[in-house]
Amino acid sequence: LTFEVTASAIDLDSDTGVMVCFEDVSPLEQASQIRRDFVANVSHELRTPLTALLGFIETLRGPAKNDPAAQARFLEIMQREAHRMERLVRDLLSLSRVESEERMRPTARIDVAALLGSVARALGPLAAENGSTFLRTGPEEGVMVAGDEDQLRQVFTNLIENAVKYGAKGGDIGIAIETFRESKGFGGPAVDIAITDQGPGIAQVHLPRLTERFYRVDSHRSREMGGTGLGLAIVKHIVTRHRGRLRIESEPGQGSRFTVSLPLG
Ligand code: ADP
Repeated sequence: LTFEVTASAIDLDSDTGVMVCFEDVSPLEQASQIRRDFVANVSHELRTPLTALLGFIETLRGPAKNDPAAQARFLEIMQREAHRMERLVRDLLSLSRVESEERMRPTARIDVAALLGSVARALGPLAAENGSTFLRTGPEEGVMVAGDEDQLRQVFTNLIENAVKYGAKGGDIGIAIETFRESKGFGGPAVDIAITDQGPGIAQVHLPRLTERFYRVDSHRSREMGGTGLGLAIVKHIVTRHRGRLRIESEPGQGSRFTVSLPLG
């Protein structure tokens, strides 16, 4: 707990005295600490590719000026670093847009089953590259929720992309959709969308922190796969905006399951 203590001299009619107020400012302290950490993380994430770009530009203008083979190699790395920055800026913008809209309930009628199919088709080539197969179960259309199509597309894209990136090479990826007439916690009908992979899984200690911004279990692998560390934070915000829930279940060696539950209708 962090206390802020304010003291003031008071004069109640003829009695004089001192009033001391204790106010618990821990939540405010925490919020500003989270903001400071976020700015520090963003700066670090941007500075790393920027430093690499500046270094390579200097080399291209100097030692590698007359070396076409080195130039080609360095340009390729520079392009990769620039793409990394582009992805980071794109995810930061998404996060800030979702946060600013969090209190506004989305109202469009969206068919999540059809949307899930469209996302799976779009990610087909990525899965094929990894030798993974999508296994779909549940209805292919006609599951309506009140939602924001672009944001729900982003949720399914991030979860399926993660399943491909962190799942087993050549493994199956389950994409299941199931409706419930009465779902606990929603007080009415709901739909569960579950993405399952056969990857190495995630140790229990990490599970509660996965949706924190920039939290990665294995930073090296995340960066190598082009991750920004913001995907699940964005998913969590969007699901919350849709009055839904995100459940993460995983065990090392057993793969992972990410389930999004949304109220129907
Ligand atoms: P990233 O851009 O690093 O993929 P995310 O926010 O999408 O960021 O995910 C955070 C971290 O959670 C990842 O870096 C990875 O360590 C872990 N993770 C996410 N999805 C999976 C999965 N399906 N299997 C194993 N680990 C995962």
